[in-house]
Amino acid sequence: MADLEPGVIRKLDEVVVNRIAAGEIIQRPANALKELLENSLDAQSSHIQVQVKQGGLKLLQIQDNGTGIRKDDLGIVCERFTTSKLSKFEDLTHIATFGFRGEALASISHVAHLSIQTKTAKERCGYKATYADGKLQGQPKPCAGNQGTIISIEDLFYNMPQRRQALRSPADEFQKLSEVLARYAVHNPRVGFTLRKQGEAQPSIRTPIDSSRSENIRIIYGAAISKELLEFSHRDEVFKFEAECLVTQVNYSAKKSQMLLFINNRLVESTSLKAALESVYSTYLPRGQHPFIYMSLTLPAQNVDVNVHPTKHEVHFLYQDEIVERLKEQLEARLLGSNSTRTFYKQL
Ligand code: ADP
Ligand code: MG
Repeated sequence: MADLEPGVIRKLDEVVVNRIAAGEIIQRPANALKELLENSLDAQSSHIQVQVKQGGLKLLQIQDNGTGIRKDDLGIVCERFTTSKLSKFEDLTHIATFGFRGEALASISHVAHLSIQTKTAKERCGYKATYADGKLQGQPKPCAGNQGTIISIEDLFYNMPQRRQALRSPADEFQKLSEVLARYAVHNPRVGFTLRKQGEAQPSIRTPIDSSRSENIRIIYGAAISKELLEFSHRDEVFKFEAECLVTQVNYSAKKSQMLLFINNRLVESTSLKAALESVYSTYLPRGQHPFIYMSLTLPAQNVDVNVHPTKHEVHFLYQDEIVERLKEQLEARLLGSNSTRTFYKQL
């Protein structure tokens, strides 16, 4: 038998390391869109417009009217771990912004062609800059433009051919982009959102500025859902949480389950909460049919760990079982209360 030789251990090239890390954070256009929407919201925008070509694989462009980025920051904005939002670890316990780790733009610049056009209120003109592998290419060029930022991402995964090939369907990617944008639009009704396929006259989604959550649900998800919506909120003194909910009554049901969950304004998923709420409905809805649920939970910041990997949307929080139980009780009571004047049959 031949001697088995161990492989020589070498340090990976930095560009390779960064690209691998970036590929974990940005797995498809919808991940990039979520990061960009959060950046625009962090920048206090009131209007956010998204344009896409080929499901965001060819182009994903987001324009906002927020604070803009200072010219002096354009040099490092796409480097890893550069952020305007966090300076020491302790800040994490009361972080109010979405971003905090300065990884999104850096990651995107490692897997796509990225350019930023931006103008702040103070600067006399705007600047346009392009980036590759975290680094500014050349100098920012002065340009005209309104206050705010336009981020353009072209040819996503151009340097990761296998990933690019795995994402074969622009239609599927567009669907995922729509879902992300729709959810942020419902949760942030004061901000006007537009999602447009380049070249199409009508936007796929458009919500007005200063709208309401129920109005945005009607615009995006349709009247069948919005006319059956039950709105309620609940504040719990024991476990110190607040919930704002818009859920369909038991007269509505659909094949597809929809759960829009925000915890402390972050779009997240919670399998246990979803299962608990659905179990309340399962008593009333025909088998295989589901509700539409929008829920926004506010918990004390120190009870939710935000320092998880950006792609891990599943959250865990302190007193989870108790909170889920309370929410389930609330939902049950509200659904029953709201339907006292209607007839429906409890499925046995
Ligand atoms: P993070 O959001 O975690 O700070 P990002 O990589 O997403 O990291 O963004 C880096 C920095 O770029 C942000 O901290 C912010 O200062 C700036 N930035 C990004 N997008 C925008 C935007 N749309 N408007 C204003 N500033 C932005
Ligand atoms: Mg960010």
